[in-house]
Amino acid sequence: MSNATDGQSAARPARLVIMGPQGAGKGTQAARLAEQLAIPAISTGDIFRANIKGGTELGRLAQEYTAKGDLVPDSVTNAMVRDRLAQDDAAQGFILDGYPRNAAQVVELDTILTDLGVALDGVVELTADRDELLARLAKRAEIEGREDDTEEAIARRLDIYAEQTAPLTSAYDERGLLVRVDGIGDVDEITGRIVTALTALVG
Ligand code: AMP
Repeated sequence: MSNATDGQSAARPARLVIMGPQGAGKGTQAARLAEQLAIPAISTGDIFRANIKGGTELGRLAQEYTAKGDLVPDSVTNAMVRDRLAQDDAAQGFILDGYPRNAAQVVELDTILTDLGVALDGVVELTADRDELLARLAKRAEIEGREDDTEEAIARRLDIYAEQTAPLTSAYDERGLLVRVDGIGDVDEITGRIVTALTALVG
């Protein structure tokens, strides 16, 4: 018996990016998709936080930027993503959360994937309006106590998203890779919407 008959294996979307402003639920949805699709969720923010906590060289390089809500320099971020995507567990697929975040990172991701001999299957954009995001982020700040969940850093991250990251979705749209999903509502429902949209795109 093979588990290739479980119905999920055929044409399953495997190399994905999830985009959306802070607070749109990217991390939550990335984790759920990763489980459903049996691929790792790779969050650049989580990798930076783990390195900062662990006091590594990478953490030292990233800390001053993440604390302010600024982007960590591309040279640092790109090298980290290149290493991570080359690891064995990403060979069958991955969902990238938090990367790419600017136009140069889009180009770099293409190069990394070409070098690995693979290509993206889909890009999910989770949408939510700014008021809803600010309310969610204020709540998260209370619960998680993240160092970069200060009012200034939150506003800075939302601005950077609007200025540098949101415009990237049109490039993916032109390539026929983009699915836009409303990020407001029940968590399960949103996961369902994403899976349906991706299946329609890839299938
Ligand atoms: P996140 O958990 O996605 O909100 O990321 C937290 C912080 O990590 C961001 O505010 C940035 O400082 C840094 N970061 C995460 N991903 C990237 C990226 N692709 N490029 C540059 N900086 C990043």
